Amino acid sequence: MAFDQYALKTNRVLMKCPNCESEQFQKNGHRSGKQNYRCKNCGRQYVEAYAAKGYSEDTKQICIKMYRTGLKLREIASLTGISHGTVYNWVKQARLLPNTTDVPDDTI
Ligand SMILES: [Zn+2]
Repeated sequence: MAFDQYALKTNRVLMKCPNCESEQFQKNGHRSGKQNYRCKNCGRQYVEAYAAKGYSEDTKQICIKMYRTGLKLREIASLTGISHGTVYNWVKQARLLPNTTDVPDDTI
């Protein structure tokens, strides 16, 4: 498949502050053996495990393109490693699903 490698390359997980979703943070030592971070925006301290995860806009657009080419949500999810729930939300946001009630539960 032509775009799976491209998708994987751009499949960067962005770490975000769990409080304000800012991507501006600095390392702040270790806590219980885990890397600790401090948000530059709101000052919240958090360890990586608690950080909100997000994907780049590029990754989102690629998934939407993949859906437009006819791939199923589960196929996109397995190609990109992104959860199908996340892909589903993007597709829904992009208004590509004419009527969400037409989508059987097992495609979510
Ligand atoms: Zn913050």
